[in-house]
Order: sequence, then C-alpha cells, then structure tokens
Amino acid sequence: MAVRIYNTLTRSLETLEPRSDQGSTLSLYTCGPTVYAHAHIGNFRAYVFEDLLQRHLQARGFTVRRVMNLTDVDDKTIRGAHAAGVSLGEFTAPFKKAFFEDAETLCLLKAEAYPEATDPVEIARMISMIGTLIERDHAYQAEDGSVYFRIGSFPDYGKLAHVDLEGQRPGQRVASDEYDKEAVADFALWKSWVAEDGAVGWESPWGRGRPGWHIECSAMATGLLGETIDIHCGGVDNIFPHHEAEIAQCECAGQGHAPFVRYWMHCAHLKVEGSKMAKSQGNFFTLRDLIEKGWTGREIRYVLLGVHYRAALNFTIEGLGAARTALARLDAWYERLTELGGSSTSLEAPPAVTEGFFTALDDDLNISGALAVLFETMRESNRRIDQCELTPAQALGLLAWYERVNSVLALEPRDDSDETPPEVDRLIAARFAARAEKDWKQSDELRDRLATLGWVVKDTKDGQRVSKG
Ligand SMILES: [Zn+2]
Repeated sequence: MAVRIYNTLTRSLETLEPRSDQGSTLSLYTCGPTVYAHAHIGNFRAYVFEDLLQRHLQARGFTVRRVMNLTDVDDKTIRGAHAAGVSLGEFTAPFKKAFFEDAETLCLLKAEAYPEATDPVEIARMISMIGTLIERDHAYQAEDGSVYFRIGSFPDYGKLAHVDLEGQRPGQRVASDEYDKEAVADFALWKSWVAEDGAVGWESPWGRGRPGWHIECSAMATGLLGETIDIHCGGVDNIFPHHEAEIAQCECAGQGHAPFVRYWMHCAHLKVEGSKMAKSQGNFFTLRDLIEKGWTGREIRYVLLGVHYRAALNFTIEGLGAARTALARLDAWYERLTELGGSSTSLEAPPAVTEGFFTALDDDLNISGALAVLFETMRESNRRIDQCELTPAQALGLLAWYERVNSVLALEPRDDSDETPPEVDRLIAARFAARAEKDWKQSDELRDRLATLGWVVKDTKDGQRVSKG
C-alpha cells in the first residue's frame, strides 16, 4: 500500500518511496528541543505528529532510522545559564532529562540517536562543514570575526519557503538565529566569541566562538544519516529561516550537490483556547503543567494526535475532557472484548473489520478518518455483543486488530500518577506512629498490609519510602 504525504518543498502530495539502494529503509530527521526550558505543548504537538508518522511507516513495513537533535548551545541557553549563574552544561542537563521524561509520558518512540550540539564530535563536524563552505566561496568571515553564509551564492535559497528574494540586499547580515520572515540576509554559521558568552566557546580556524543554530542541525543530520535524508520534519515555524538555511548549507557543502532532503513535512501551529499560546496570556502550558492539573499523558497524547498535522490545533480543556470520555469508551470496549474472548482458544477475523484505519493514514496521515474507523468498529462490535452476535473467537480477532491499531496510536492505559491512594497514606501514617513507639510488630504488620495492596515500603534514613511493587 502506498503512503502519500504532503511535501512542503513541492507543495504537493507525493508517494513516499525509499531510495532504490535503501531497501525499505527511510531516514527521518526531526528537529529536537532547545533545552533552555521545559518543552511546551506546542513543541509536543510536533513530536507527537512525528511519532505518529514513524509508527505508521513502521506498521506499513518500513524501517525508520530517526535522529533527533538536542540544541544545547544557542542564544537562549547561554542567556539562561548566565541568569542562573551556572555553567551551560549544568543549566541544560535538567532540561534534557525532563525532555526524555516528558517523551516517555507521551509514549513517544525513542530515536536511534539524540546528538547534542555541544558534543565535541558534533562541533568538529560543524567546523569541518563551515570550512568546506568557505573553501567553495559560499561563506566568508566578516569584520566582526563571525562567519556568514553567502546567500547570493546559492540561487536555490528560498525554494522551501517560497520566499521572494527580490529586494534582497547583498551584504545584509544577521547574527541572530531567529530573524524575521522578511529578512533575507546572510546568516551566521560561526559566531565569534563575545563577552556575554562567558565560558562558552570552542576554538576554530576563525577564532574562538560557537556554531549558529542552523549549522548544528545540518552537521548532525548529515553526519549521522548521510548527505541525503529521506524525510525531515519540524513545525511550520522552522521552515524559514531554519530549514531553508539547512538546505543551503548542506547542498553547498555536500559532494555533487546532492539534494539534502527528499520529503519535507511540517506540522501546523497549536493554539490554546483559540489564542496564540503566550506566557503573557496565561494560556502557556508545559506538559508538566497539565499533568499537575490531573490530566494524563495518554489524554494529552490523544488530543495532540487527534487533529490532522497540517491543520491548526485548538487545544482546550474541553478537548481534554472529551479525550477522557473517548478513552473511557475505548477501555470499556476493550474490557468487553477481553471478557468475551477469554474462553476462546481460536481466533477469527471478525466481520466489519477493515484495513480502513491504515488506508486512512496512508493518505497523508488522515487521523480523523482513521479514528472514525476505530470508533465505528467499536460501535458496531458493541452492538453485536449486545445482541449476542459476536463469538469469542471474533472478539479475539478484534483484539488482535486493535493491537495493530494501537501500535500506531499508542494509547495503552497507563497509570501516570505516582500519588498514593488515601488508604495507603493512612497505613503509612499509622506505621510512622508505630515506629515512633518502637512497636516493631505493628510496624511489620502494617508493612505486610501495604504489600497486599501492591505497595513496597522501605525504611531509609529520611523516613519511609513507598513505591508500587
Ligand atoms: Zn533543526
């Protein structure tokens, strides 16, 4: 079955095909987080879309080699470290850790590699790539000591964003990684050291400095996946200047000017309660904010997943509530099938189950169509169970079908809370009191009662620690 996706480069739907010498393997590069804060749900919308893409491609028999970078040196991380009065590495480490925890909360598949921009191997790759660009006259060192990409040397600049280059004034330069959409100007590849950089900097043929954000991705992507990458994803915000700059760097530094990326895929914006997410609006959410409010990773994943990736997603608390209801229906259905299928020793493909879920996703990840097939199947099989028309073997057949569906959706129920139930809290408090009285017998009995509830208690120098056994 052919999978078709919308390629931002050609502005058209295309059939996804591996390169002829790559068998069924597709390489996938996804721009990762800048680790200066906890990622917000807008960031996670992109990561969940990329996860859906990877999972569907795998369900369709492709082998996906995915790399996601971590940007751990840029203007924002340096500013953050300076404000916190710690080294860059000390500042970014907890945000890296938090990112992986959040990714697990949302059931995101692990990438094959998560290269970090400050890794000496990666810095060496960036320096080498910049050297090649200078050699080929695509880059130059300016009087401020920084090295800039010469946009005038690459006629294709603007092909991804379809930016109109007329009115471009050669010689304009921008040192910032995030310049305005209209500013078509030579961008920094290597930023020469300035006092605000403090201890952050690496030696290079152009003096002490640090890489620009765009060269980080170009060097890490091609270094790990080769000169041509099959699919490159990101949010629409990344198209210009970031991805446009990545193309310019890679296609000018590569051998034989091989195309950098064959399929570009971008996911649309996320709004919260109809407005652009902004701290000043009070509608800015990290994943952790929502978990603290009592929503689960599964519910948040469902909401982020549920809207087609190229459509704007309006994230609302009402939407989370609807997700909770939909997932409860799914769980109830799953339980009914498990109960009915329990006595069966054979498995039979049930009636009315189609490949529709997967063929919908083949069509540029049409998730609404896919979920409609799932919910229609649930409705129809519930009706059959009500009327005693579904056999145990068919129930097992449906469960097997759902296993495949869920390998793409990844909506398995999980207990996301580490909170102890009130009864466990009471037993722990009683045990604390018993130990204060040196009533070891009572203490042991309470420990055993906790164990029967599935909680393991350990006595440490800081007191009792309980965890799920
Ligand atoms: Zn990137």
